[in-house]
Amino acid sequence: MTLSIPFDNSYARLEGPLFARLNPVPVEAPSLIAFNAPLAERLGISGEDDPDLAAYFSGNRLPAGATPIAQVYAGHQFGGFSPQLGDGRAHLLGEVVAPDGRRFDIQLKGSGPTPFSRRGDGRAWLGPVLREYIVSEAMHALGIPTTRALAAVRTGEEIIRERPLPGAILTRVASSHIRVGHFQYFAAQGDTDSLRTLFEHSRARHAPEADTPLDLLRATMKKQVDLVARWLSVGFIHGVMNTDNCTLSGETIDYGPCAFMDDYDPRRVYSSIDRFGRYAYAAQADIIVWNMAQLASALIPLETDEEAAVDAFQSEIETMPDMLRSAWLKRFAAKLGIAEPRPEDAALVGGILDLMHKGGSDFTNTFAALTDGSARDEVADRDAYADWHTRLQSRLEAETDPRSTMVAANPRVIPRNHQIEAMIQAATAGDDAPFHRLHAALADPYSSDGDNDWLKHPPAQHEVVTATFCGT
Ligand code: AMP
Ligand code: MG
Repeated sequence: MTLSIPFDNSYARLEGPLFARLNPVPVEAPSLIAFNAPLAERLGISGEDDPDLAAYFSGNRLPAGATPIAQVYAGHQFGGFSPQLGDGRAHLLGEVVAPDGRRFDIQLKGSGPTPFSRRGDGRAWLGPVLREYIVSEAMHALGIPTTRALAAVRTGEEIIRERPLPGAILTRVASSHIRVGHFQYFAAQGDTDSLRTLFEHSRARHAPEADTPLDLLRATMKKQVDLVARWLSVGFIHGVMNTDNCTLSGETIDYGPCAFMDDYDPRRVYSSIDRFGRYAYAAQADIIVWNMAQLASALIPLETDEEAAVDAFQSEIETMPDMLRSAWLKRFAAKLGIAEPRPEDAALVGGILDLMHKGGSDFTNTFAALTDGSARDEVADRDAYADWHTRLQSRLEAETDPRSTMVAANPRVIPRNHQIEAMIQAATAGDDAPFHRLHAALADPYSSDGDNDWLKHPPAQHEVVTATFCGT
């Protein structure tokens, strides 16, 4: 059966300078690495047995109904404002309305240069494409809002990074690709008409209950607070929380130098370009406040009384630290078996995190062990642990079913960085088996079924990945 995607491309119908229309640039010899059939079905896409999937998901052939565009946006990158970024190597093929009524973007990433490429080649190499496929699908399996991966193809072309590397293209699915940076672009241009178009479009897609720009800010804040609390609760470090990598949908986007922590350290950084730890693990809670303040600034030109708006938006942003604290407490208390946390439970959470930090405990394994009764073997200071565990036991007497709470909050497996690196090395040498094995082992991360046991091992000393290069 021929591939059939029920497109309905609402962004491409918008008036104004919001995007450029252009086709993906064909590649030499596309070959399919993976096609996510369950996701296709969820989206109402049929034709998974079409022999030409590689041609479609490389951009060599356009599926009927596609209207490819590259979106323009701006963004604060590591704190400095870039007035024009945009899709420099991505083509939004269009949108589908899934059988359940939800709308999704379908985008090729690595599909050739666009007017927004600046000095880039418009391409992606195999490593980051497979990393994003694995980590975004693992994130989804963990129950955390994220963009997803529909397909990955090799282009059959070499691209030049530090050395020649195999090129690849990812097909990304998202509730939308609208970022804080989209609003920043039109605010900086002083183009209030386009800003309003973007506001109306975003509101309809992501916060239909929002009447005003302040409502949209509030709705986005809520989603982003929830998202960051969830990241923290599984030890995830995004690595590049620039405002152009921060969505209105509240989905995790742009898996660059991201990683899940092995041993717990609140200041952990993996990104080789994050030299000052701006986006370190624990800093993510501060950065999301900063990013939402940038969204607030960009929305203000939509208000008639700008001065009054500044005060109102400012007050709204000031509520974020408290929202984050309570979202964090809810997630981490659950990891201890506490379903309805009290303020004093923060000390109990802090207690175990402190012991883990001092003892270099593995984040995922320690909480998984706690789910099974005791994390004594994971923590170096046994006496301090025994004291802490006594306090936990007495607190848990007030809980009806602490084990179920913990099972649902503590994944058994996460995509460990050294396993991802090994998978990328194998794929670069032509062996895709580790990619498929890793993908399968991460499908049900809260269960401990024996098939994913190998993913529980932290890296040996020589396997530790100390820096993840953007190396896009
Ligand atoms: P990222 O760091 O992936 O979030 O990308 C930041 C900006 O750089 C975005 O506007 C991308 O489209 C652009 N970009 C990244 N890599 C490339 C590339 N190889 N070619 C063209 N543009 C790129
Ligand atoms: Mg980006």
